[in-house]
Amino acid sequence: MRLSCNAAISKGNGTFSIETIDIEKPEDEEVIIQIKAASLCHTDLNSLHWGKPLVMGHEGSGIVTQIGKKVRSVAIGDPVILNWATPCGHCYQCHKENEHLCENNSPVIAGSNGYNSGHAHLEGTKWKGQPILRSFNIGTLSEYTLVKEIAVVKNPLPNMSHASASMISCGVMTGFGSVMNVAKITAQDSTVVIGAGGVGLNIIQAAKLCKSKMIVAIDVHENRLAMAKEFGATHTILASKDDNGLIKTSQEVRTLTNGRGADYAFECTGIPKLGAAPLAMIRNAGTAIQVSGIEEQVLIDMTLFEWDKKYINPLYGQCKPQTDFPKIIEYYKQGKLMLDDMVSKTYSIDQLQDAFDDMESGKTAKGVIVFN
Ligand SMILES: [Zn+2]
Ligand SMILES: [Zn+2]
Repeated sequence: MRLSCNAAISKGNGTFSIETIDIEKPEDEEVIIQIKAASLCHTDLNSLHWGKPLVMGHEGSGIVTQIGKKVRSVAIGDPVILNWATPCGHCYQCHKENEHLCENNSPVIAGSNGYNSGHAHLEGTKWKGQPILRSFNIGTLSEYTLVKEIAVVKNPLPNMSHASASMISCGVMTGFGSVMNVAKITAQDSTVVIGAGGVGLNIIQAAKLCKSKMIVAIDVHENRLAMAKEFGATHTILASKDDNGLIKTSQEVRTLTNGRGADYAFECTGIPKLGAAPLAMIRNAGTAIQVSGIEEQVLIDMTLFEWDKKYINPLYGQCKPQTDFPKIIEYYKQGKLMLDDMVSKTYSIDQLQDAFDDMESGKTAKGVIVFN
């Protein structure tokens, strides 16, 4: 059955409004999800400037309301978490087991601004009678969304709050995966986390799960460092806003690590001039990991790479949603991963601007839009 519903539409010129969209019935391998909660991250703000109208939102949790004829992994009524890794299974990268980098379907292949539509069914979602793109092909800031079956993972915990579950879609997955799948931190490793926002807190708690011997959180906000401690940071450093490239702060990190530098440093601020900061924090042959999605030009002092240092920019924590989401939910169930405490505030879709304002001011680690 065809349906109409409200959705947040980015106009592509820096503005958005709540509009009515029309959604067709699902094709064979598609499902319709009634979105119950959609958490926000900075990418959603960026999507206001992607130059084309699109349905916003790329993190979400909801209930299956319609399924196509060939859908087998979920049924009507199932709680599901959305994901934006929908590999084709047969391209060069899929064969290399880099499904998150699928050359046909990844919504963020270079320069595509989260709307490489791949095999998404564009005709299925219309605004003012015309097909409209959806952020990362899932567009979760909408009462309903039509997606590929592979873009949803059934949530085995029916009583889990949708607000908490929605963060697994991207922010939690990115932090957790960057530690577990990319860095593969061990108990012998020291970890530095620059920026204790939504992704940073998840890196901290994943590093704690790996028993990292030292977890140093760095932020310019006192309240975020307090949160970092709750999530597992063993040390915190309040950085000064005028510490250029965090060079002064990196001296404190060296003092904490026998003058050597940390084994791993994660950059989670999204601030371009901090793009090279994790290099200043690590030891020789250590690993810097940028998880914030900086895409601007950055001037780098190449001595920061000395010696034998690695710098990785992983996508989506090298996510394999069908196996990684259940792992995350199992840790949550065992009380080893804090998700409920990460939701700073919930808003209705009409309060989306307030939610963005709070995120930009650093007031919230994670704001979540909830739908009735
Ligand atoms: Zn592929
Ligand atoms: Zn995100």
